Amino acid sequence: PPPGAPDIEIARAARMEPILPLAERRLGLEPETLVPYGHHKAKLSLEHIASLQDKPDGKLVLVTAITPTPAGEGKTTTSVGLTDGLNVIGVNAMVCLREPSLGPCFGMKGGAAGGGRAQVVPMEDINLHFNGDFHAITSAHSLLAALIDNHLQWGNALDIDPRRITWRRVVDMNDRALRNITIGLGGPAHGIPRESGFDITVASEIMAILCLAKDLEDLQKRLGDIIVARTRSKKPVTARDIGADGAMAVLLKDALAPNLVQTIEHNPAFIHGGPFANIAHGCNSVMATSSALKLADVVVTEAGFGADLGAEKFLDIKCRQSGLRPDAVVLVATVRALKMQGGVKKDDLGTPDVDALKRGSVNIARHIENLKKFGIKPVVAINHFVHDSEDEVAALKQVCADNGVACAVSKHWAEGGEGARELAEAVKSSLDAGETKVSLLYDNDLPLADKIRTVAKEIYRAENIVLSGAVERTLKEFEDLGHGHVPICVAKTQYSFSTDPALNGAPSGHTVEVREVRLSAGAGFVVAICGDIMVMPGLPRHPAALDIGLDGDGQIVGLA
Ligand code: ADP
Ligand code: MG
Repeated sequence: PPPGAPDIEIARAARMEPILPLAERRLGLEPETLVPYGHHKAKLSLEHIASLQDKPDGKLVLVTAITPTPAGEGKTTTSVGLTDGLNVIGVNAMVCLREPSLGPCFGMKGGAAGGGRAQVVPMEDINLHFNGDFHAITSAHSLLAALIDNHLQWGNALDIDPRRITWRRVVDMNDRALRNITIGLGGPAHGIPRESGFDITVASEIMAILCLAKDLEDLQKRLGDIIVARTRSKKPVTARDIGADGAMAVLLKDALAPNLVQTIEHNPAFIHGGPFANIAHGCNSVMATSSALKLADVVVTEAGFGADLGAEKFLDIKCRQSGLRPDAVVLVATVRALKMQGGVKKDDLGTPDVDALKRGSVNIARHIENLKKFGIKPVVAINHFVHDSEDEVAALKQVCADNGVACAVSKHWAEGGEGARELAEAVKSSLDAGETKVSLLYDNDLPLADKIRTVAKEIYRAENIVLSGAVERTLKEFEDLGHGHVPICVAKTQYSFSTDPALNGAPSGHTVEVREVRLSAGAGFVVAICGDIMVMPGLPRHPAALDIGLDGDGQIVGLA
C-alpha cells in the first residue's frame, strides 16, 4: 500500500505468519501450550501460565502520554511501533494491549489496533468479537443480573431492597436508549417491576476483575466479592450471597487466558481485556502482562488517557495489586496535542505554530514532573505526523532537553519498526541505566478521603478537594465494611489536569469536587466520580457503522 493508505489496507496487505510456529520460534511455546482460534490467533493456556511462575521476569515498559486531544495521541500505535523498533535493534520484545470494544468501533473512534505501519493483526478479528472474550463478560454479567431478579421473584430471602440494586445490565454497543429502563413489567409472572439500565460491556466490573485477577481462583473470589445491592436494612449483598460466583467463573474460564496475535512485523502481541479508563483502571490484563514478562526480554504495555489518569491508575491500581513495576516509561507527545494545549483550535492544528507549541509545553513539563513523583524518568516519544514542521519538532526536542529527559522522534506510523529505531535505542538506554525505580503515590492504609486528596493535590495540582457530607459518610462506610485499604480510581475528564475539559496547559489551584463514590469490591478499588462520567456512550450523528460494509469479495470495508 502507498504511504498514508488506510489502516485496513496496510493490515490486510501484511503477510501473517501462522500463530503456532510464530509462538514456538519467538516465545519458545510448544503448540500444546496454546489453544488456537483459527490460524492467526491463539490463547495461552492457563495450565501453561501456571507452569511459568518460577521463570525470571523480563523488563516492563509502560507507554503513557501527555494530555490527549479528542483524536488520541497514538499510545497504541507507539506501543506497537516501539515493540517493532526494539526487535529491529535486536531486543526480544513483545507488546501487551487492550482489546477494542465494538461500541467505539461502530461509533466514533474506529478500530484500536494501532495505525499506519504500526499495527497488530488480524486487524478485523481483533476489532470484532475477538475470541469471544467480551461475549463471555457480557454473559457472566447478564447471568448475575438474571439471578438477582430471580431471587426477588422467588421470595427474596436476602431481603434485597429492589430500589437499591446497583448491578445493572451490559451490552457491547453504544446505545444511549438503554441507559435508563424499567424492567419486570407485565404482572406477577414477569418479575418485580423496578428501574434499571444498561452500561457498555467494557464498563462492567467484571471486565475490571478479569483484568486484575491473578488466576482462576482469584477471579472467582473477586466475582463473589462484587456488591450488587443493599438489603432493606442497607447491608451490602454480594454476588456470593446470590450464589452466582461459581457459574460466572465457569463462563469466564476461557476469557481469562491471554490472546496471542502478531504485529505486522511478526512480533508477538498479547491483546487481552479492555476496561474503561474512567470508572475502571484502563489497562490490559495482569494475566497477559505477567505472562509476557516470563516469555520476552522486554514487554511494552499501554495505559489509557494521559499520564495523570492512565499512568497513575496503572501504577496505583494495576501495579499495586499485582506487584508488577515498570522498568522504563515512555511519554508520548505530539506536536498537534501541544499546540492544542497552547490554545490552538482543533481545525487549525495543521498550520505550523511554534509559539503555540512553546505555550503548550507547560503540559508536558507537568507530566514529566508528576512522573518523577513515582520515581520515573520518562523517555519522550515524539510521535511524528507527516505534517509536523521541522521547526516545531526542533522546538519540542528543546522542551524535552529543558526538562532534563531524553526524547526521540519516532516515525513508526509511516515507516514501521525501522522508523522507531531511535526511540527503541533511547528506551534500551533507559532500561540499561536502570533510571526508573518506582514508588507508589500513597500507602494502602491511608484513609480513602486522604488518598483522593493526595491524587488531586500531587497529580492534578488542585488546591483541595470538596466532599459532600454524603460522600464523606459513604467513604466512612466503605472503611467500616473493611474496604479502606483499596486504591482510588478517579473518573474525571481526560482533557485537562482539572475537572474542566476546557482548561488546558498546566492549571493549578483549582478544586476537585467529588460528586459520588462507588465501591468496586471485586475489582478492589473505590471509584471517585469528579465530573460527568460515561458508562453507556451514545452514537454520533454519523456513526462509523454507516460506512462499514462488505465488498463484492466479502471483504470488510470502512473499518478504520
Ligand atoms: P491512543 O492509543 O493514544 O488512543 P492510537 O494509537 O489508537 O491512540 O491512535 C489514534 C489514531 O491516530 C489512530 O487512528 C492512529 O492511526 C492515528 N495515528 C497515531 N499516530 C499517528 C501518526 N504519527 N500519524 C498519523 N496518524 C496517527
Ligand atoms: Mg490506545
